Amino acid sequence: MTHPHDRALPRAVRQAMPMARDVLEEVAKQHGVCIRPVPLRRLDTLTGTSEVIDVPCGAVLDSKCPPCAKRNRQLRMAQCREGWHLDTEPAITPDESNEEQHWLVEFRADMQAKRDAAEQAGDDTTDLDAVLSGLDDQINSAGMRGSVTGSAVPKRTRSTRRRQDAPDLPKRKMTNTTLGRTFTSGDGKTYRPSLFVTLTLPSYGRVRDGVPIDPGTYDYRGAARDALHFSKLVDRFVQNLRRVAGYDVQYFAAVEPQKRLAPHLHMAIRGTLPRAEIKQIAAATYHQVWWPQAEKVRFDGDHLPVWDEEAGYLDPGTGEVLPTWDEALDALDEDAEPLHVLRFGEQVDVQGVLAGTPDADQCIRYLSKYLTKSIGDTLDGGQTQREHAARMVDALRYEPCSPTCPNWLRYGVQPKNAKAGMAPGRCRSKAHKPEHLGYAGRRVLVSRKWSNKTLAEHKQDRRTWVLEALGQTDEPTDPHRYIWRPVPAGDANVPPLAVRLLRSVHERQRWRAHLRELEARAAGQDLSAIEDMGRAA
Ligand SMILES: [Zn+2]
Ligand SMILES: [Zn+2]
Repeated sequence: MTHPHDRALPRAVRQAMPMARDVLEEVAKQHGVCIRPVPLRRLDTLTGTSEVIDVPCGAVLDSKCPPCAKRNRQLRMAQCREGWHLDTEPAITPDESNEEQHWLVEFRADMQAKRDAAEQAGDDTTDLDAVLSGLDDQINSAGMRGSVTGSAVPKRTRSTRRRQDAPDLPKRKMTNTTLGRTFTSGDGKTYRPSLFVTLTLPSYGRVRDGVPIDPGTYDYRGAARDALHFSKLVDRFVQNLRRVAGYDVQYFAAVEPQKRLAPHLHMAIRGTLPRAEIKQIAAATYHQVWWPQAEKVRFDGDHLPVWDEEAGYLDPGTGEVLPTWDEALDALDEDAEPLHVLRFGEQVDVQGVLAGTPDADQCIRYLSKYLTKSIGDTLDGGQTQREHAARMVDALRYEPCSPTCPNWLRYGVQPKNAKAGMAPGRCRSKAHKPEHLGYAGRRVLVSRKWSNKTLAEHKQDRRTWVLEALGQTDEPTDPHRYIWRPVPAGDANVPPLAVRLLRSVHERQRWRAHLRELEARAAGQDLSAIEDMGRAA
C-alpha cells in the first residue's frame, strides 16, 4: 500500500491519488448524505439545553448539493404523482404552522439581522442574500404563502384592455371542482385522462444546436425580458385555462432550460381539454409589463445620479430630483405603451395521459429531469454556447429585473425603496446571474389544490412511515419547543466538515442496516416502497 506522503513517490503519482476529502465526499454522495451541511444551534426550551445540529443544505440554501438536489427531485416526483389523477376533491384546510415553519421563520429573521449588520458595516452581502432568497423559497414550499417581509402595498390598478389581436376564447360556466371528467368504456372501466403540456417562448432569431446562427440579429433583449417575466405569462395561461375549462384546473409544472437558454414549461394538468383548445389558449395568452421605459439611457459611465439623504437620487448635472418609482408609474398615461409584452411561441405540445400508465410515469420523470440543474447550466458547454450565454448575461446587465432594481437609475427613475449606494449594472438579484439568465422564479410551480399535501408534508410522511416501520412513533413536537440560531463561522463547537460527513455516513449505514433487517423479517412482502423511503429519508 503506497502512502500519499511518501516522498519517494514521483510527484505525478502523488497528485494522481484522490484526495482523502474527495473520496469522503464521494462516499457521502453514494449514501445520499448532504455534503454541504449547515450547522445550526438548536436551543431546547423544555430542557434548557442546546446543541449544534447539521441541517442539510437543501433545507436552507438556494443552491443544493448533489445529494440534496437528488432527494428534492424524488420528493417532487412523489408530489407530482400524488396529485395528477386525484379522484376525490382534495380537502384544503390551512395547516397549523409546524415546527419546520417556525424555525424557518425564526432563522430567516436571524439571517436578515446578520445581513443588515453586514451591510451597515460595508461588508459584501452576496452570500447572505443568497441564503435569504433560498430561505424565502423554503418558507413558501413549507406551506406558508407569501413572503415573510410581506407586500402590504395595495396593487395599482391599470387598464387591462385586451389588445386587438388577441383572439377571443370560449368560456364555460364555472363549476366548483378541481377534478377533470372521466370516461367509462364499454366494459365498465373508468378512465381518468389528463394532460401533459409543454409551452415554449417565441423565436428570437434562428438557432442551430441551441446557438444563434447570427448573434448580431438575435433578439437578446427580447429573450432577456421574456425570461425576467416568464412566471407572469404562466400565471396568465393558468387564468385563461381555468376560464375556458370551466373548473378549478390544478397543475404541477416545472420551468426548465432549453438549449437556446430560454426557460420553457412542462405542465402536468389534472383533467383534460381538447388539444385545439389548449393551443388556442396558449396563442391568446399574453402578459403586459407596465413599467416605465427602459430604452433611453439617461445616465451611464461616470455620469450617474447622486444620492441625497433628503430627496433621494438627483441628476448629477442639474440637481433635479429624479422621479420616484411611484411617480414614474403614475406618469404612464392612457397612451402609454407597456415596456414589454410576452407571448408564448408557436410550439405548443399537448399530450393526453391516462392515470396509472407508463406514459404518466415517464412524464413525471421528464418533468423533474432538469430540477437539479439551473437555467444557465449549458447543456453541452461548448465554446459557442458559452459565448451565447455571455451575450445573454450582457443583455441582462442593465435590464431592470424588478421595481427595486438599481438599473432604473440608468433610465432616470429612482428604484422603489431607493437607498444610498445604488448603481446601474450592480444589481445583486439572482435574475442577472449567469446561473439564472433572467429567470429567478421557482423551478416548480404547484397549484394550491394539487394534492392535499405540501412538500414539507410529503417529507414528514416519509419520515413517519419509516419510523413506524422501525417500530418507533414519530411523536408530534411542540412547535415552540426549539429555537434555532445560526452558528458563527469558526465556532469551536462545530467539528471539521470531514468529521461531520463521516458521522452522517455512519448514521446512514446504521439506518440502512435497520431497513435490511426489516426486509429480511418481512420477506415476501412488497418492499420496494420501504427501499424508496430509505433512500429518501
Ligand atoms: Zn446538501
Ligand atoms: Zn436587478
